[in-house]
Amino acid sequence: MNVVTLKKGKEKQIKTRHPWIFSGAISGVSGNPNPGDTITVVDSDGNFLALGQFCPPGSSIALRLMEWRDNVPVDDLWINEKIDSAIKLREKLSPNTTTTNLTRRLVHSESDFLPGVIVDQYSDVLVIQLSTHGADKQRDVIIHALKSKLQPSCIYERSDGDGRKWEGLPPQRGVVYGKLPEGDLTIMQGDVKFNISIVDGQKTGFYLDQKENRIEVAKLAANAQVLDCFSYCGGFTIPALAAGASHVTSVDSSANALALLEKNLKLNNLDSSRQQSIKADVFEYLRENYKTEKRYDMIILDPPKLAPDRGSRDKAMRAYKDINLQGLRSLMPGGILATFSCSGSISSEDFRMATAWASIDAGKEIQIIKQLHQAGDHPIRISFPESEYLKGLLVRAV
Ligand code: SAH
Repeated sequence: MNVVTLKKGKEKQIKTRHPWIFSGAISGVSGNPNPGDTITVVDSDGNFLALGQFCPPGSSIALRLMEWRDNVPVDDLWINEKIDSAIKLREKLSPNTTTTNLTRRLVHSESDFLPGVIVDQYSDVLVIQLSTHGADKQRDVIIHALKSKLQPSCIYERSDGDGRKWEGLPPQRGVVYGKLPEGDLTIMQGDVKFNISIVDGQKTGFYLDQKENRIEVAKLAANAQVLDCFSYCGGFTIPALAAGASHVTSVDSSANALALLEKNLKLNNLDSSRQQSIKADVFEYLRENYKTEKRYDMIILDPPKLAPDRGSRDKAMRAYKDINLQGLRSLMPGGILATFSCSGSISSEDFRMATAWASIDAGKEIQIIKQLHQAGDHPIRISFPESEYLKGLLVRAV
């Protein structure tokens, strides 16, 4: 049997049900586990603590825990139950909705007790992303469960994120079931439509976690001169224009993202004279803009993860402070800043602190209008603080 023994005292963290164990907590491994194998975790006296996925030696997380009951095996039935439970929660969140135009996250990794497994739904097309050896081994069972529970027309795999690289796994993408509809998919988000490119888009095609925040931000966009930084395909640009922004400047470093944005403008029949796309590095763009007279009524800052892991927290705090400082400097007096962090290792308190440092250096007072989070279909697991990864502040700066 494959067994990991923890050092004395290290069992405390397991009892809080945090799902990650780092290598420093381990005193020994017996058996001959391969990456992704289910392994029994015991304390220094040999008492059962949990079952986890064995991660490849050298990866920062040594074990990803799945089950804390000692008489429950992690088998096909277990995986089916977790998928079932994840789907039931989403059905509660969007009751009485047919699959036509249903866009949501169905499975959110550790937050749904399935480490490394993401499933997004775009109408009757499902996109799966498997990012660990353990998730890879569960592939067939997961696909079978999704097919039988949801009868999708297509399941597409987009397992090509950074997580796989860190686990030493090659990228994997393509149709795993059914047939991908020809051309782009169109989804509704609130009152606006988006073209989704599952094959070429970022992540699984769209950032579903900002769903509710886009609506909150758009409510304040009427008649505003808006700067949407890190715009991707226009997640914030399109709702802001639809809500009556007088002009939106969208900045992203990816030409592909801005090409998708262009399609989304057309799809919503929005007047392109009210929008300008700029392919640039946002940090540089904001620094240069500050030197000019141009000031915006509203600035959105939705950067990619600036802290990829715990080790980069201090560097990321400086980057969050810097981006917010630059954003505040380009804002009109009394302007609105919608600022976000999607780094799991930066807490809400950290992010608020970085924004406070920025406000001091910018010489502006900040009033928080609303604190924002990831959408409810990306649940926050209370035993896993890192799962509260997306945090945002909607503020007025005076
Ligand atoms: N706001 C978007 C999601 C942003 S994801 C939405 O609502 O859908 C982050 C985006 O930042 C990506 O599109 C990526 O291409 C872009 N990006 C990453 N680093 C950048 C940089 N330094 N400058 C400009 N854009 C950047």
